[in-house]
Amino acid sequence: MIPVKSYAATAPTSPLAPYEFNRRAVGENDVQIDILYCGVCHSDLHQARDEWGGSQYPMVPGHEIVGKVINVGSNVTKFKVGDIAGVGVMVDSCKTCKSCTSNLEQYCLEGFVGTYNNKERNSNEITKGGYSTQIVVDEYYTFKISPNLNLAAVAPLLCAGITTYSPLVYAGVKKGMKVAVIGLGGLGHMGVKFAVSFGAEVSVISTSPSKEADAKKLGATHFIVSQDEHQMKQYQGYFDVILDAVSANHDYTTYLNLLGVDGKLMVVGLPTHPPALTPFSIVTHRRSVIGSCIGGMKETQEMLDYCAKHNIVSEIEVIPMQEINNAYERMLKGDVKYRFVIDLASLK
Ligand code: NAP
Ligand code: ZN
Repeated sequence: MIPVKSYAATAPTSPLAPYEFNRRAVGENDVQIDILYCGVCHSDLHQARDEWGGSQYPMVPGHEIVGKVINVGSNVTKFKVGDIAGVGVMVDSCKTCKSCTSNLEQYCLEGFVGTYNNKERNSNEITKGGYSTQIVVDEYYTFKISPNLNLAAVAPLLCAGITTYSPLVYAGVKKGMKVAVIGLGGLGHMGVKFAVSFGAEVSVISTSPSKEADAKKLGATHFIVSQDEHQMKQYQGYFDVILDAVSANHDYTTYLNLLGVDGKLMVVGLPTHPPALTPFSIVTHRRSVIGSCIGGMKETQEMLDYCAKHNIVSEIEVIPMQEINNAYERMLKGDVKYRFVIDLASLK
């Protein structure tokens, strides 16, 4: 047993507070990681507050983890002690179904095991995430991280990065295409960076006029304020791909109308309310709505290697663990540029 310190939510309405628990002993396929940084994803807030239902308490959120390997099991080949490792949204899956054997573990037919708030496959333990000092993970669900990048700014790649990279690759985004990203938050700003790096003309559709300068700095050509009907009308039928990275309830129809023939609305945002979508908005231009969940292990490593090669990291604000409740409130107000990252040194 490995004693660790963490911050946990104990109920949907209670603030996160210090919590101590034990990690499992290091098994032969396991890697023990001393966590350096953990990004703060809006999914952490959704789950800590039980907005998706079924939350398990006490909950230790956090699935954008970067740390130093401090122990490895006898079968581990990927790492040696002292290496830098990453852990994302999954820590297990069945490894045998059609999805798992096709490098699509995120679509495991038995359901992947989330890094927190999920039951382990071989025990009744509830997984606990990266708002903690250490984690023990099967090496299959870990990633190699280039030590050359700013490690705090790499952490958000483990969820926000892969969640936007994967659908843009799936939609075939490349030079000559017109792409829009809705919601310039943690996911959205990574979506802009990737779409720009793939050579597309990129626009940001936002509820926050104050983000225009940042959007342009990230490489966006157009900035569209979604409440401005005149601007929205100007872009009817304009885009090939729109990435929806919005955390709050909203309808799809308004955005679908901005797609041209065969346009794709790639949905990654996960608010709880069923969005309105009129059949006319998809039928008239053979448009499609496609959901996308993080990315598989192989694709996530590819994304990390792509980022290391192209020097792509997240725009971050580093906080101590003790600031997490304030960070959640600021995230809800859209007051983060563009990802909070917890420095776990504050808990050690
Ligand atoms: P975030 O940093 O809070 O960003 C969300 C953005 O949504 C905000 O910055 C804001 O951008 C926009 N927004 C907020 N309220 C809005 C409204 N009423 N209408 C339109 N836009 C609004 O959140 P995040 O961490 O990027 O996560 C975004 C969503 O993706 C969450 O629901 C999260 O759970 C989900 N997610 C999904 C996956 C997956 O695998 N599919 C993985 C991770 C996260 P503007 O200020 O520019 O409008
Ligand atoms: Zn996430």
